[in-house]
Parts: sequence; C-alpha cells; structure tokens
Amino acid sequence: MRVTRFAVHVTRFELHVTRFEVHVTRILEPPVAVDTDHLSASTIAALAQARAGADDQIRAAEHLIGGPGQEPCPECRRSLAEAFLSVADRARPEVAAALAAREGTLDSSGDLLKLLLKTEPASAQTLMTWKQWVEGRRGPSDASVVPAVILASYGYRFDAGNPELIDLARLAVAMADAARAPLAKTFAHAWLARVRGIRGELRESSREIELALRVAEELEGAELIMGRAYATYQAADLRLRLRDFGQASERFERAAELYRRLDVRMAHWAEHSLGIALSESGRYEEARQSMTNLLAESRHALVVKAALQGLAGEVFPHLAAEGEKGLAETALCLTAVEDSPLPTVPGLRARAIWRSGRMAWALGAPRLALGRYAEARAVFLAASTDTAGLFEAASLSLDMLEILLRLGERRRLQELALEAAVTFNALGVDPACLLALGYVRQLEIREGAGGYALAHARLSLELAEKRRLLRSVGEGGVL
Ligand SMILES: [Zn+2]
Repeated sequence: MRVTRFAVHVTRFELHVTRFEVHVTRILEPPVAVDTDHLSASTIAALAQARAGADDQIRAAEHLIGGPGQEPCPECRRSLAEAFLSVADRARPEVAAALAAREGTLDSSGDLLKLLLKTEPASAQTLMTWKQWVEGRRGPSDASVVPAVILASYGYRFDAGNPELIDLARLAVAMADAARAPLAKTFAHAWLARVRGIRGELRESSREIELALRVAEELEGAELIMGRAYATYQAADLRLRLRDFGQASERFERAAELYRRLDVRMAHWAEHSLGIALSESGRYEEARQSMTNLLAESRHALVVKAALQGLAGEVFPHLAAEGEKGLAETALCLTAVEDSPLPTVPGLRARAIWRSGRMAWALGAPRLALGRYAEARAVFLAASTDTAGLFEAASLSLDMLEILLRLGERRRLQELALEAAVTFNALGVDPACLLALGYVRQLEIREGAGGYALAHARLSLELAEKRRLLRSVGEGGVL
C-alpha cells in the first residue's frame, strides 16, 4: 500500500524537477552588473570594526558575495581580512580559529571516520573483488574488510547522486550480514542509514538505524561503546533530517559522551552536530555558545572549519537578522580571513554558495541572497536527479521562503512553498512540510488572500493520513 503511494509521488517529483528549471531562471533575477569599483578604505575599516552602516553593508555584499557565479573580489577580500586582523581580538576563539585555518596550523589528521575505524578506504581492486562476490553470492565473507568498504563509500558523502555512495554502502551491509559479525554489522547498517538519509530516503534510513542500534547491543566492552556511539550518532543525524530537533540533540549528546571515551576528536564532531541542531531549531544563542566552545577546544581542521562555517554562515547571520549589530560584518570578515576556495564537490559547493547567500541576506541584500540560494539549489538538483537533490533543494527552499515572505512576493512564495511541501510530504518530513505551508499561510493571512487554500488543504489531509499509516514505523516509533 505504502509503496504504491510512494511511487505515485516519485512520478510527481519528476514533474516538479522539470518545472523547477524554469523556476530557477526566473528567480535568478536580472544579472547583477559586474562591479569593478573596489571597496573604499572607509568601507573596509567600517566592516572590519563591525560598525558598517546599511549602505556599506549592501556595498560589501555586492562586491564580496555578488550574484550567481560571481567570485568575491580577491583584492578587497584580502584587504578586509588584514583590516579585521589588525583590530580584532585574536584571543577570541573564532578569530584565532579562522587565522589557524588560514595558516594551516590545525591538526589535519584527516577524515574523522577513518580515525574511528583505524583503516584506509578499500582499493579499487579490493572493491572489484567484493562486488563480484556479492553478484555471485558464493564463498565466505570477510568482516575485517567491511570498515574499508564503508570508508570507500564515505568518500562520496558530499556527492549524493553518485551511485557508488549507495552501492558501496550496500556492499558493506551484504558483507557484514554474511559474516554475521556484530561490530561490522552495526557499522555497515548505521552507515547505510546515513547514506539513505543523505539521499532523502528517510523511511529506509529509519529501518537501517533501528537494525544497527539493535545489533550494537550484542557487543561487549570497547566494541559496545564504539558501536553504540556510531549508531547513536547516525540516529541523531536522521532525526536532524526529519527536523525532530529535540530527539536529534539528545542523541548527539549521548553520542558525544560515548565518543569521549574513545577519541576526543569524534566527540567534538558530535558536539559540532549538536550545534547545528541547535541552530537549525532556531536556538542561535545556544548554537553560538556551543560552536565557540568547540573552537576553543578543538584543534582538528575538519571540526574547526565546520564550526567556523556554522558560525559565519548560519548562526551570525540569523543573530544579525534578529537585531544583533556587527555580526553580519564579522561573519564576512571571518570568511575573508579563513580564505578557503569554493569547493568542487557538488554537495560542498552548494553548501558554500548557500552560506554566502545567507551572509548576503544578513548584510541587507535579499535579492543577492535569493540569487545565491537559487544557484545552490541548481547545484543540488544537477548533481543528483533523484530524491537526494530534491531533499536538499527543498531544505534550501525554507530559507528562500523566509525572504520571499519578508519581500511579500506571494506568487513565488506559493509556488516554491508548495513544491517544497510536496517533497517533504512524500519523504516523510512532516515538520518541514508544515513549515513550508506555514509561510504561505502567514502571507495569505497578512494579505487577506486565500489563493492556495485548496492545495494547502489537500496536503494537510495527506499528512494526516500518512501519520495514521506510519504511526508505528521507524526508530523511536514516530517517523
Ligand atoms: Zn575589490
């Protein structure tokens, strides 16, 4: 029953993707004129001292963020970084961290999962051997190779549309199941849960994580802590995707506690994720505390850079929008100091563009922000044509809706909100579906209009029915 319903939704998705391409071009706006005049010394000084007026802030957004496809002016970015460092308190954790990230003085011991599994990704030859094994389904499996296969899949985590991501995760599960090794099974199923989550397949993710958590309880001693920590972390990650922030935070805290007994770097990573959960749930002040503490404690390059990006690209812009003066400028300065190039991997690239859009929004340039968001959406959708791209694109839409609501652009808001709501509804992310619809309601109430009342009612009905069907499914039982 459920499968049939989902298949119908998938067909509808494809229609939406086609429609979306039209939509992107429309949202991109008239192209922003290429800005050749550099920022004046007084504008740079005002930005560096976090006391820029509205005009200077907009000017900075145009010159250092710009429209889709534009790169920040390297010269002004450098001047801004220097000006900021000459006045900023270098003892502040975020300033020290940005400087350390730029100078490359952080611990760069590499991928965190590699540290935990204490192995290297499997070679192409090894992968080929085991792919043939899974096709033939003959002979015994080898549990000791499973971590290396997981790491091979892990290498594709920012490339959601790449078939190797899911194929290798499934291979790891097949190998671990055949070997009947509880630790390998826990890791393999927990990793497959994560991959399903990345791809927006949240129901499937829920089933995998349930299994991983159950198998973890068969472990003993240090293995029990390791298996529990990893599965709990992935369970938290799924809750975050479902926008079930309370449950996500609780699990991230538990995972951090368990990791602390194994490797403090992994504990820091779980704490970073907790900061993201706080930020995404709108608890920006707590998120700032959490991320700043992390910057004071961690020396690991991946953790530090992620926390910096969270602060500058998410927390500070929101706090600035809530009225805290100087934070939009500080976010821009920190990014200039860190000075990292735009990544090439699609998932990372889209996220970096997304963050720059958020900074533009905080600097008082909502049109630039919309342009950057649309660009990031297009990257997500182009890199992954299935549910993965749609899930990310819909998540990004929530930020776009907030701006469209403030600008009072009803037509675009309605189109985008319904698109996002349909995606979230089909994938089982009810809170996000309701949130998207809520934006339409807010504007309709404000304008006394009810153009989309019917569509709204239809989706609400579907939601109610789905809840009834799925009440007892999923890890924690509330998916
Ligand atoms: Zn310039």
